Amino acid sequence: MTDPAARPLDSLSLPRFCGVPSFMRLPLKSDARDLDVAILGLPSDNGSPFRTGARMGPNAVRASSVMLRPINPYRGVDVFAALRCADLGDAPVVPGYMPRTLELLEAAVRQVVADGALPLCLGGDHGVSIAELRALAPRHGKLALVHFDAHSDTWDKYFGGERHSAGTPFRRAVEEALVAPEHSIQIGMRGSLFGADDVSQSLALGYDVVTTDEMFVLGIEALARRIAARVGDRPVFLTFDMDFVDPAFAPGVQTPEAGGPSARETLALLRAMRPMRLVGADVVEINPAYDGPGQITSLLAATVAAEILALIAEGRGGAPR
Ligand code: MN
Ligand code: MN
Repeated sequence: MTDPAARPLDSLSLPRFCGVPSFMRLPLKSDARDLDVAILGLPSDNGSPFRTGARMGPNAVRASSVMLRPINPYRGVDVFAALRCADLGDAPVVPGYMPRTLELLEAAVRQVVADGALPLCLGGDHGVSIAELRALAPRHGKLALVHFDAHSDTWDKYFGGERHSAGTPFRRAVEEALVAPEHSIQIGMRGSLFGADDVSQSLALGYDVVTTDEMFVLGIEALARRIAARVGDRPVFLTFDMDFVDPAFAPGVQTPEAGGPSARETLALLRAMRPMRLVGADVVEINPAYDGPGQITSLLAATVAAEILALIAEGRGGAPR
C-alpha cells in the first residue's frame, strides 16, 4: 500500500530544483521506524589511500538523484508502492579518525537495523562497508556478499600496519566471520597488481571472483545466474564501488581503473539480477571533486542506488501500478 509520507515529491507537480535535495526527493526522517528501506549517508573518506573527497559523495548523489522517477520499467515495479522509504541524512563521522568513525557508522546502521528497516547507504569510501557488515551480521548471521568493484579490497594492511582502509574491508569481514565467503562473489576485478597473488588472495579467502574480462566472456545473463546460484537463499549484502565502471563513464572516484564496463553495461547487469534476500546495500567511492561535466558519476551512482531499490521492491512483491 502506498504511504504518501514515504513517497518522493512528484516532479510533475513541484519542479526538481525546488526544495532540499534528499535522495530521490524522499521525505527526510530522523529514524527508520515504519520504514522498509532507509537511505543513510556514510560520509567518511578516512579510508582513502589516494584521491580523498568521497566524504562529499552522499550529498552529490542526492543532488543528482532528483532526476529519478518512481517507476522502474525494467522490473515493472512502482518502487514506492512496494517500499516505504525515507532519507535519514548522514551518520556522524570524525574526519581523520578512522577507528572512532567506524564506531559511529556502525552505531548509525545498527539503529536502522534495530528499527526494522533495510539500510541502503551512500558512501563514503569503501572503508565504510566493514561498519555496515558489523551492524548487520549480528542480526542476520553471516551474510552473502555481492561485491561489484575493479578491486578486491581484500588486502591485509596499508602503510605499515593500518588494518582499516578502502582496500581491506572484505578481508576483515572474513576474519570477523561477518560474511560467508562460500556464498559470496566479487565481480569486476581488473588492472595492475601489487603482487602476483592479488586476485588469488580473494580465492584463498573463499570468495568466487569474476574479473572484468571473464564477465564479458560469460555474458550478463550467465553472470546473473551465477550470482543467484552463489548466494542462494542467504541474507545478502550488496556493495557497489563506482570504480567498477569505466572511468570514461564514472571519472569521479578515488581509484579509477581503465577498461571497465560502460554505464549501459553496468545497468544492464544490475537489471538482470534476480530478486534475492537483500538485508543491506551500499553505493560507495563517489568523489565529486573528480567528477566530469554534468556530474555523470553522481548521476550514475544515484541510478545504481535506484536499481538496487527496484531489486528490493521486486523481491518484496512490488507490482506495477
Ligand atoms: Mn572498493
Ligand atoms: Mn575499487
